[in-house]
Amino acid sequence: LAKEDGKNAFRFFTKEIKTQSIERLTLESALRRALERDQFCLHYQPKIDMASGQITGVEALLRWIHPELGTVSPGQFIPLAEETGLIVPIGRWVLKEACAQNMTWQRRGLRPVTMAVNLSPRQFADPNLLHDVDEALLASGMSPVLLQLEVTESMVMRNVSRAIKVLDAIQSRGIRLAIDDFGTGYSSMSLMKQFPIDTIKIDRSFVRDLPVDSEDQAIAQAIISMGKALGMTVIAEGVETLEQETFLRSHACDEMQGFLFSKPLPARQMADLLRAEPRLASPPLQPEAGSG
Ligand code: C2E
Ligand code: MG
Ligand code: MG
Ligand code: MG
Repeated sequence: LAKEDGKNAFRFFTKEIKTQSIERLTLESALRRALERDQFCLHYQPKIDMASGQITGVEALLRWIHPELGTVSPGQFIPLAEETGLIVPIGRWVLKEACAQNMTWQRRGLRPVTMAVNLSPRQFADPNLLHDVDEALLASGMSPVLLQLEVTESMVMRNVSRAIKVLDAIQSRGIRLAIDDFGTGYSSMSLMKQFPIDTIKIDRSFVRDLPVDSEDQAIAQAIISMGKALGMTVIAEGVETLEQETFLRSHACDEMQGFLFSKPLPARQMADLLRAEPRLASPPLQPEAGSG
């Protein structure tokens, strides 16, 4: 009986794997064609400066709109693109598109804002990365100081000496660098200061349970103090509630990004938002007159 069970389990198991690999193959071949079929687009999420309540920049977030599968989320296809190496040409497209969009907005009279682009580990390791970045800037005419590249701790810690060279080359062009998802990877404090990083982004997982979770409180505060001590801008990602905003503001977090302010928006809606120049956050409370 046990043997029969085992056999059935095995049959079930192989069937599962078969379905999974067929799905993977389908997705993979669709992904291979997605670029030439023009199925990618970028959405943009604003980053808000806490001191002024205004938008300082936007982060470009990749969207894949497949005619049958619908909108496939980055969580589903970016790991696959990374595994297959397709992320390199896709990432090149993202860089070009993001810079071109930024210039389109400027030509339409919108105030220049920084454009943040996410890099993947494979892209970061690619010897043509700097060439691709230069190409995107040259083709669009966008100033390098408006570009910000988001990398993760694990990307830069994999090969520290190479990472320092690549990051220095990026910085020497005037391009800014942010560490994304900060606190989720392994990073050495003594190495952090060797990287020419301008900004650290507190990972959403530490923001989610603020201000209730006392451990997350401690982590968020520690990241803010460390970042400030190293002269960096600290930004919190995934801010969804007023309570989270209040906590982070009271601990002097510089910038915030999250659904509380705006979801990632298609280019046209982002332009409308930029044009409206809203105060997406209230300015910090002024000390009462006469209180000191
Ligand atoms: P990320 O760079 O950390 O981007 C932040 C993610 O959090 C985005 O998910 C964004 O939509 C989401 N988010 C923003 N605010 C909130 C909030 O208040 N609450 C919640 N629950 N989520 C929020 P998205 O667009 O699905 O992207 C997921 C990840 O995929 C990104 O994480 C990034 O690692 C990767 N990714 C996206 N676009 C690109 C790209 O062009 N290239 C590469 N290499 N990776 C990308
Ligand atoms: Mg990011
Ligand atoms: Mg992030
Ligand atoms: Mg994150």
